[in-house]
Amino acid sequence: MTDEFEIIRRWFTRRRSDAGVRVGIGDDAAIVVPSGPIAIAVDTLVSGTHFPADFDARSIGHRALAVNLSDMAAVSARPRWATLSLTLPAVDDGWLDAFAAGLFELADRFDVSLIGGDTTRGPLSVTVSVTGDAARQTPLRSRGRPGDRIFVSGTLGDSAAALEYLGGPDSEWTGDVQWLIDRFRFPEPRVALGLALDGIAHASIDVSDGLLADLGHICEQSGCGARLDLDSLPISAALGQKFTRERAESFALRGGDDYELCFTLDSGEGDRVRNAAADAGVSVADIGELTAGGGIRGYRDGREIPLAPSGFRHF
Ligand code: ADP
Ligand code: MG
Repeated sequence: MTDEFEIIRRWFTRRRSDAGVRVGIGDDAAIVVPSGPIAIAVDTLVSGTHFPADFDARSIGHRALAVNLSDMAAVSARPRWATLSLTLPAVDDGWLDAFAAGLFELADRFDVSLIGGDTTRGPLSVTVSVTGDAARQTPLRSRGRPGDRIFVSGTLGDSAAALEYLGGPDSEWTGDVQWLIDRFRFPEPRVALGLALDGIAHASIDVSDGLLADLGHICEQSGCGARLDLDSLPISAALGQKFTRERAESFALRGGDDYELCFTLDSGEGDRVRNAAADAGVSVADIGELTAGGGIRGYRDGREIPLAPSGFRHF
C-alpha cells in the first residue's frame, strides 16, 4: 500500500542544491534564507473548475506551478521556492509520474525548489504556493497613470478557444488545433519579461481571467480608463486562421487562461521594453493607452466599437 509518506518520498522529494534552503521536505516546516523582501503567491486548481476532470496529469502539474510563476512575473519577482498541497482521490502511479514530471520540468527550468506541502485524500485539487525575491520597484495594479501605453505579451485568446474546442463536439475543427490546446495545457509564465519590467512598468497584471477583466483591475485600482486599439490585439496565426477577426478578438478580450502579462509604462519606454522582451524571448504589443477615466473603450480606425464586458468570476 502506498501511504502519503511513500507518495512524498517517491514523487516529490528531490535532491537539489539550493543554498537558500536550510530545511526542505521532511520536517514540520521548511526554513529558507531570503535575500530581502519576498513576494508570495498561492493558487488552487480544482478538477472540473480549472481543468476538465479527465485532463492529463503532466499539464496539471505544469499549470499548478505556472499560474504561480505568472503571478511572480506580474510583480517582477524572482520565484525561488514552492510548496504543494495535493488532494488525490486515489494513488495512481502513472498519474503521479506524469504530474511530477510536468511540475518539476517547469520548476527546474526556473530554478525553483519544492520545499514542502501536504498530501491528503479527496476530490482532485492542487494548491501551489510560490515565494520569491521581490522587485526593487514592484509594478502594482494601482500604479497606472493616464497617458501610459498599455502593453501585452505573447498572444491572447488561444486557451479560451482551446477550451471551447475541448468542451464541444470535436472533428469539425481543422488547422493548428494542437498548438491552441498546448497553449492551454502548457502556459509559459513570462518570468524573464517580468524581471525586466522591474523599474520600467508602472502597473502590471497577469491575464488569467481575460484582458477586459484584468485590465479592468488596473483601471479600477489606478483610477483610470483605457483606450484599446482593437487592431493591435495580438492574435496568434492559429487563432486567426480558425476564426473571423471579430471572433478571435472576442476570445482575446474575454477568454481566460492566457497567462500573459499586461502592463503599462511611460510612452517613451516603448523601445526599451521591446528590446527587453526580445531578450526574454517573447513578443510584446502596444495595444492602447490609459486615459483619465471613462472605462475601457475599444477603437478601430478611430471609431469606437462598443465592448460587452466579461471575464470569469467564480461567484
Ligand atoms: P505534518 O503532518 O507535520 O504537516 P506531513 O506529514 O504532512 O507533515 O508532511 C511531511 C513532510 O512532507 C513535510 O515536510 C511536508 O512539507 C512534506 N510534504 C507533504 N506533502 C508534500 C507534497 N505533496 N509535496 C512536497 N512536500 C510535501
Ligand atoms: Mg500535514
